[in-house]
Amino acid sequence: MSQDRRTFLSASAAAAAAAFMGANPSAASVGSVAAVRRGPATVETPGGSTYTPWLEVDAGALRANAAEVARLGGGRPVVAVVKNNGYGLGLERVGRVLDRAPEVAGLAVVTVDAAHALRDAGVAGPILHMGLATAAESTELARRDVRLAPFDDRAPVLLREVARELGRPVLVHLYLDTGMGRLGMPVHRARAWLEAITAGGHARIEGTFCALVEDDDFDREQLARLRGFADHARSRGLPLGRLHAASTHALFFRAEETLLDAVRPGLALYGAYPGGPDAGARERAALRPAFALRARVVRVERLRPGDGVSYGHNYIARSPTWIATLPVGHADGYPRRAVDGAEVLIGGQTYPVIGAVSASHTIVELGEGREPPVAVGDAATLVGDHPSVHLNTVAEHADASVYDILMHLGARLPGVVIGD
Ligand SMILES: *Cc1c(COP(=O)(O)O)cnc(C)c1O
Repeated sequence: MSQDRRTFLSASAAAAAAAFMGANPSAASVGSVAAVRRGPATVETPGGSTYTPWLEVDAGALRANAAEVARLGGGRPVVAVVKNNGYGLGLERVGRVLDRAPEVAGLAVVTVDAAHALRDAGVAGPILHMGLATAAESTELARRDVRLAPFDDRAPVLLREVARELGRPVLVHLYLDTGMGRLGMPVHRARAWLEAITAGGHARIEGTFCALVEDDDFDREQLARLRGFADHARSRGLPLGRLHAASTHALFFRAEETLLDAVRPGLALYGAYPGGPDAGARERAALRPAFALRARVVRVERLRPGDGVSYGHNYIARSPTWIATLPVGHADGYPRRAVDGAEVLIGGQTYPVIGAVSASHTIVELGEGREPPVAVGDAATLVGDHPSVHLNTVAEHADASVYDILMHLGARLPGVVIGD
């Protein structure tokens, strides 16, 4: 750990991020994904063939959301969660952009592979690995300055091994279980564990964190447990670094004290609002949808009265109508249940989804008229930056959670980053 590197969660996130960038030579190798653009709003199909559906990731929106999240967090440093392939948008795509956002103090992932992929992609700032890793994996992560999140009984021994291997203390964020019951050292067993971890000076505790269950009363209890432990540690002369617990839910719906020393959101960064019934979230922050799921029309046809579409034939035309088929379906992450009111945007107009969404196809109704209003090859937006196709809107129509839709976007969808 070089002296000129600030700690992960410096009080001034922007200054810290700038210092990291300046201090790390690999910053120069940060690449940008080529954005193929014809006009301000038109993007050619990136990769795949013309009719392969694709994702557009809006770097400007990601940056704006990072700033908005930091504002909600009262200026605290933001640990940007990019797990699960960057919430479905592409780990490297979003990681590179958020790594350079001034409010972002570091990125957090849950797999070893993701941490390495971010480094391989040129991410220079701090990365936190919030999962279990073997000793060998931990050594390789720590070698690349990835912060470990120890939580099990073997951690003291493992950290000693890693520190010996590297010849320097290992940077860690202690992962505590304050009641989530998922990962973390149960806080009631953590005192002796903390002593063991700190005994040989093998670990440098940069932060300590827990996950909240997002229950009104129990979140408060969890925070009390975390604080109680931090007070105990301090009294023993073992400071825990920066405390963090707040994900998107807490940023929107919890009191300031929940925000502790840093915030750790995922969802909001991508422009989606938390909560099933929109519990006032939209009034609290202006998030910008950071992605669009798009595809080109592959077929335009006219239905005669009595003609139907798709599996189950639950849509039958009463009068003549034009329909368009889009080569994107639930295998690409568009929700199967989007039929009840979901709409698709084509050429600035919205059209209702009809029939069953199949694995690779979605059909929309274009209406009557002598000529169809859209043509084969026109680009459609199924989820994106328009009220009718906003992720929260689509999730409501599909009776799904925004997480389910976002995180199940096809991992192999070709993507393009705009505005980088
Ligand atoms: C996913 C995750 C987050 C981010 O949660 P959001 O609800 O997406 O903001 C934060 N902390 C941990 C440990 C997580 O697993």
